[in-house]
Amino acid sequence: MPDLYAVIDKLEKNRQLEKQEFVFLLDHTTDSLAQYAFEKARKTAVRSFGNKIYIRGLIEVSNYCKNDCYYCGIRRSNSCAQRYRLSQADILECCRKGYDLGFRTFVLQGGEDPWFLDGVLSDIIGAIKQRHPDCAVTLSLGERSRESYQRLFDAGADRYLLRHETADSLHYSRLHPKELTLESRKQCLQWLREIGFQTGTGFMVGSPWQSHENLADDLLFIGELSPAMIGIGPFIPHHATAFADKPPGSLEQTLFLIALLRLMLPNALLPATTALGTIHPRGRELGILAGANVVMPNLSPRRVRKKYLLYDNKIADGEEAAEGIENLRRRMTDIGYEIVIDRGDYRLETKLDWSERGQ
Ligand code: SAH
Repeated sequence: MPDLYAVIDKLEKNRQLEKQEFVFLLDHTTDSLAQYAFEKARKTAVRSFGNKIYIRGLIEVSNYCKNDCYYCGIRRSNSCAQRYRLSQADILECCRKGYDLGFRTFVLQGGEDPWFLDGVLSDIIGAIKQRHPDCAVTLSLGERSRESYQRLFDAGADRYLLRHETADSLHYSRLHPKELTLESRKQCLQWLREIGFQTGTGFMVGSPWQSHENLADDLLFIGELSPAMIGIGPFIPHHATAFADKPPGSLEQTLFLIALLRLMLPNALLPATTALGTIHPRGRELGILAGANVVMPNLSPRRVRKKYLLYDNKIADGEEAAEGIENLRRRMTDIGYEIVIDRGDYRLETKLDWSERGQ
């Protein structure tokens, strides 16, 4: 049996592993192995970003959704969900507040709401960019046509987040109705990247029926795609879905995977996600100590926050809310990190890469 620690060393050195090596790590993860990976991942993140943490203001623009993903609380067939949609004025107000709090990236996320036609979104993006030219606009609005993505890019959107959810098509088909396929998800990711978006992807950890092989495939897929951003978080059941009784993903496994991703992609933007903060009160801090470098506080208007319920008990107040930024800042300082006022764009080359190459 190869030495587990040596496999981590190999990942750090080569930034990639064979599938069986990832499976081996996942099959035999121990506390001390995880600590070993966290330390290396942390050092890698600090080499790329110093002790800086980037913040993104998350604006949940709509919980209407035409899709019916089995895991998701805002799926079409959840008739208990109280639906809402933000207007352009609402969204601009969120950005104004966020700007004053130091946010320089706004993430517009929502269900696949057909009301947000390209023209409607382009107007919103244009208005944000006009008022806040020094800010980045990130979209996370699901699958659209290539032409649509192009129009949103031309309107000024900088980034797009679209998790692949799972890189195994059979597993994908157990989490989604048949009109949704891994193939079209991947096609969208390819378009986004070709168009020029800083593209993010990611997956849920511990989603029903997920195996270590599946997770290894997720890591290999991400290694190949080499996205600018990778968002991962534990699956958490929602009471009004078919997966209500499924167990949640584990904190430990999510943290371990964050560390592996950091070792694979030293310059990637890796958020300590809301789901991570939901399953553990110090989830976000632990994520950063495992190699994450981004947090995404909620900038949505208070009145809608509880309605964007992707899973049960989703945190929405306290440090999670943008108004809690001072608290969050303190929590980051307590673990040796500093929240910065910066767009936090993806850079292929870090300063260190330059000096390492002797330029
Ligand atoms: N409609 C957009 C945004 C989806 S919400 C899209 O399709 O990309 C953002 C992410 O929340 C999803 O990609 C999914 O990975 C995650 N999510 C949804 N339901 C969840 C649950 N029950 N537990 C944990 N994460 C969940």
